[in-house]
Amino acid sequence: MRCEQARRQLAATDDPEALAHVAGCQDCFEALEADDPVVAQLRAAVPPLLPAPDLASAVLARWAPPMPTRTKVLRGATLILSLLLAVAVEGLVGVAPGRLAGLAGALAAWGQAASPWLVGLTTVRDSLLGVPALLVGWLALTLGCLLLWLRLATAAPSWRSAR
Ligand SMILES: [Zn+2]
Repeated sequence: MRCEQARRQLAATDDPEALAHVAGCQDCFEALEADDPVVAQLRAAVPPLLPAPDLASAVLARWAPPMPTRTKVLRGATLILSLLLAVAVEGLVGVAPGRLAGLAGALAAWGQAASPWLVGLTTVRDSLLGVPALLVGWLALTLGCLLLWLRLATAAPSWRSAR
């Protein structure tokens, strides 16, 4: 059965053969639907899809609550102090390893003169300076702990229920 014939027969009667054709023919289905007044009424009855007025701000507030001013100030001060400390250490020690060794020697002399229990620290220092890989590992561990502490102190996780 051809499309025009099926449409004409459906306009006059509920011919089962024409119904079967329309059920499997996209063109006939769209043509009949375009002429059906109920389809237009249903489409007009659907309310417009508008987002909730406060949806975006509510989602953003739950996802990342606004940071208190005190935390922002603390974070900025910590950053500035860290940079100043880094600059001071760089200015004091520099990139010359000989200066670092001289500083370590001065610390060792002070440790031995100050108290016998500081001898353990010199042993650790000697171990660290004797094995550069150990020193680098210790530095990496220290920096990791510092960064973790800084992260937790400045942006403490706030666990809330999703409900
Ligand atoms: Zn058809």
